[in-house]
Amino acid sequence: MGRRIAFISEHASPLAALGGADAGGQNVYVGEVARQLALMGYQIDIFTRREDKKLPQVVPFGDNIRIIHVNAGPAEDIPKETLLQYMPAFKTDMLCFMEKEQLSYDLVHANFFMSALVAMELKKETGIPFVVTFHALGHIRRIHQGDNDQFPKERITIEENAVKEASLVIAECPQDREDLMKYYNAPAEKITIIPCGVNTDELYPVNKSVARSLLGLPYDEKVLLQLGRMVPRKGVDNVIRALAKVRCRNAKVRLLIVGGDADTAKELARLKQLADDLKVSDKVYFLGQKSRKDLKYYYTAADLFITTPWYEPFGITPLEAMACGTPVIGSNVGGIKFSVADGHSGALVPPKDPDALARRITALLQSPAVLREMGNNALRRVNKLFTWELVARDMQTVYERIIGNDDTSSPKNLRAEESISL
Ligand code: UDP
Repeated sequence: MGRRIAFISEHASPLAALGGADAGGQNVYVGEVARQLALMGYQIDIFTRREDKKLPQVVPFGDNIRIIHVNAGPAEDIPKETLLQYMPAFKTDMLCFMEKEQLSYDLVHANFFMSALVAMELKKETGIPFVVTFHALGHIRRIHQGDNDQFPKERITIEENAVKEASLVIAECPQDREDLMKYYNAPAEKITIIPCGVNTDELYPVNKSVARSLLGLPYDEKVLLQLGRMVPRKGVDNVIRALAKVRCRNAKVRLLIVGGDADTAKELARLKQLADDLKVSDKVYFLGQKSRKDLKYYYTAADLFITTPWYEPFGITPLEAMACGTPVIGSNVGGIKFSVADGHSGALVPPKDPDALARRITALLQSPAVLREMGNNALRRVNKLFTWELVARDMQTVYERIIGNDDTSSPKNLRAEESISL
């Protein structure tokens, strides 16, 4: 029997539909890392909050993986900002499950600060060690979102304590590591950089004409794609503002916006209004959430993938675009400046700067040969550096170091240096 690992991901289940307000990268990460680790022989249970009364407690999620729905708060979809109060119940229900099944775990992998709180409490009661991936840090959110940040102020203290109590903290990129050291006093030797990845069985290049035809898109227009959760910090407004300034000789340009659901209706309405105000609503197509199996068509159909958030803990969507052979223009922040090599697999621009973005879009759209070369580079880069198989291999090194009680004093930053230099 392989090692038993408990993933805790209190608000982000791999079973959720993605692209609304709260379901995005973390859901993908937890599902994909678990899947790869299970292939290596680990037994994984993913504990996530029950958001629907009808869901069974245990749902198999492929060989060696189960999703365990935990009773903690109302069994309905509620904003993640309100969930902290239910974490004591989460821990108790998790312990009940372990008791009922007569099982324990070799290690807990906590995802996000509330799961880290549960992991700390579990450690106190059972002695099970934990590692944590924060996915986002309260301090950084506060800097960028100010009073719009609705998370309880205890978040930062919880994160500080988790840094102290965890056996290891997994940073997703060098910026994340720097932030953990600067704002949380995390000792360098307690942090390992393991980036996110992409599933290349799900996201790969298809024939561009076929993709356009399947999606009902014209062949003779230039297509820009923005895809992700529709929340203000993703800077979708910046892309619309840039579109209004793009001038492309000989071709019309359209912008596809994928993502957004009823929970993000307010942000969608704001973006539609902006497109109206800037007189580009005939060029902007709001397409709503799309399922994973269709994403490769959207990514491949696009000439450029654009993502210009204010800040980004990692950002999986640039990897997904690159895996489909599509160059990325992204903001020069966080994980994006790590995953996208400027001038090689795409371009980096300052966030909140529509003029700079419009200039890069215009220049690239008018250089098809450069775009083609960047697309090829992007595909090579992502396959070499950012697959979930590679992520899981790094994770295994970390887990075994902790479970096997190996020396944790000097974890290597695994593939980080290599990625930067490419
Ligand atoms: N996503 C999706 N369908 C949609 C919109 C988004 O499957 O309609 C997925 C997207 O493909 C990516 C994830 O949601 O895998 C967003 O992750 P990312 O790390 O880019 O952003 P986060 O949600 O973590 O802020």
